Amino acid sequence: MIIPKNPTVSDEQWDEVIRIVSDFGCSIQVIEGAVRNIYAILGDERHELLINRIEGLEYIDRVDTIQSPHKLLDIRSELRNHKTVFGGVELGKKLLMIAGPCTIDPKNPNRFYETAEALKEAGAQALRGGVWKPRTNPYSYQGDDKALDILMEGSQRTGLPVNTEVMDAGQLRMALDAGVQMLQIGTRNALNYSLLQQVGEAISGRDTVVLLKRGRHIGPIDEFISAAEYIVNFGNPNVMLCPRGTLPSLEGYRSHPDESITPLLKDKTWAPVIVDPSHSVGKSVYIEACSMAAIAYGADGLCVEANIDPPKGLGDDPKQAITPEAFKSLMKKCEAIWDLRS
Ligand code: PEP
Ligand code: MN
Repeated sequence: MIIPKNPTVSDEQWDEVIRIVSDFGCSIQVIEGAVRNIYAILGDERHELLINRIEGLEYIDRVDTIQSPHKLLDIRSELRNHKTVFGGVELGKKLLMIAGPCTIDPKNPNRFYETAEALKEAGAQALRGGVWKPRTNPYSYQGDDKALDILMEGSQRTGLPVNTEVMDAGQLRMALDAGVQMLQIGTRNALNYSLLQQVGEAISGRDTVVLLKRGRHIGPIDEFISAAEYIVNFGNPNVMLCPRGTLPSLEGYRSHPDESITPLLKDKTWAPVIVDPSHSVGKSVYIEACSMAAIAYGADGLCVEANIDPPKGLGDDPKQAITPEAFKSLMKKCEAIWDLRS
């Protein structure tokens, strides 16, 4: 929809607009209004260059698009009936709870195994564990390939599928070769389009699921869904959107909690929403409240940092991991909210 600055466009301007849209295989229909005319683009109006060329004309105010920029993930797309299943849970039918430490300590594999067993006992259907870590401080612990074996051993021992973050093509390959069932793209790489494409390509034809965190730079919701579209575009629709808090943070919290975008995501896309309360509020005492809020907002599940001994954990665990007992009680409350929803 083309909105001109003046109530109507001149004949020369009209000719110019028609020339541009026909370059993109589209045509124009005038919609006469009492105060001003608007001009509907007939055809696929999603070409970025088409929009840029029209918006670049000095007599045009703006172009409003009606079609979604993310056609596969759009709520109206044919994929809307796609069922994502993970950890034995069909998303949307039952709460999906993913839990585990921020970072797997390669020097203490037993802590991961014990955490994994305790979380399974508490009701988790999937485990998380950081093998490679995106750290703001280049001198902090960056992860270790050895942790991948520990992650997979934890999966074997519990029978639960696992999530881990990959940041480059090498880690992607190693994780897939090891049998990681859910790849995480973290907030820092949420807009790394070449990585998103590599992930989409690598998982096409497989059952692998991707947990795409929302970029913490507060991008528009369409930007978040479009990032996921990069992955789905290669043929595997198993992508889950993960609000995890944005920046700048709300004083006292690690980030600005954003579980409240869940209903807005659900209006636009069929993709499941898994909220990460841990990186959102960033303190173990607030995790339960954030988790319950996320479920009340309509989230399909949660990804929570948990550790049998948080103070001894690596990465974020000392400040934001909860114990398996706390996880069990949180899960019960979240399930009660889930039941209230229906
Ligand atoms: C994490 O899951 O430990 C992590 C670093 O996530 P994020 O990308 O959301 O910060
Ligand atoms: Mn973490």
